[in-house]
Amino acid sequence: MAAETKNWRATVLTLFPEMFPGPLGVSLAGKALASGLWVLEARDIRDSATDRHRSVDDTPAGGGPGMVLRADVLAAAIDVADTSSDRPRLLMSPRGRPLTQSRVAELAAGAGPLIVCGRFEGIDQRVIEARRLEEVSIGDYVLSGGEIAAMTLIDACVRLLPGVMGKLASGTDESFSQGLLEYPQYTRPQEFEGQPIPEILLSGDHARVAAWRQAEAEALTRARRPDLWAARPGQKRPKSPTDG
Ligand code: SAM
Repeated sequence: MAAETKNWRATVLTLFPEMFPGPLGVSLAGKALASGLWVLEARDIRDSATDRHRSVDDTPAGGGPGMVLRADVLAAAIDVADTSSDRPRLLMSPRGRPLTQSRVAELAAGAGPLIVCGRFEGIDQRVIEARRLEEVSIGDYVLSGGEIAAMTLIDACVRLLPGVMGKLASGTDESFSQGLLEYPQYTRPQEFEGQPIPEILLSGDHARVAAWRQAEAEALTRARRPDLWAARPGQKRPKSPTDG
């Protein structure tokens, strides 16, 4: 009997489920959602509150400003949402490991993650450890909540799912896919404010076009992202003072 294939699923735990699908409901991701290529489940953390006021937060132990999401409420929300052990459990967090295209590709290749969206000053450390949440950051800045960060991660994954981008764009040429930023793109009109499209792109010579694009991608990456350039496979590691 053929193995049952399940569609990629994003389960989002949030205090604001009404924010979803939001931008994920339009364009590429939205069409794929409507046609069932992926599934979005936004669950309200507050449904797991147990007191009369449905409280989800409390003041930080040790004092300080703001509120902290309670471990007991969030753990209960995770436990009812996620019964399978093989789905990654992510917590959107500015303290997390920065999201990369290679981590996105791994997440897109799996069953789909459960994603916790923080609010307030963050969430109780004990639930991060007890439920083995992987902290993921979308950049070195602080958002007011994890929802927009979760949408960013989901959007990046969904466009890599089979059937979403179609044949036109495979994603293999894009920024980060080969450890490089993408080369510049041009389209009609042939001249814009006195600037022509580079002649080589109109030559019809596919080998020269490919070589030009590779050179442009390398030059851009070297100039703008020396960190990416240095990390390319085969690059020599810069000599450190401890080297002999
Ligand atoms: N007090 C926390 C700190 O300084 O690390 C910031 C909390 S922030 C106001 C509230 C929530 O927004 C976080 O729990 C997280 O879920 C989300 N968030 C904020 N910035 C983020 C980022 N750069 N990447 C991912 N999630 C982020």
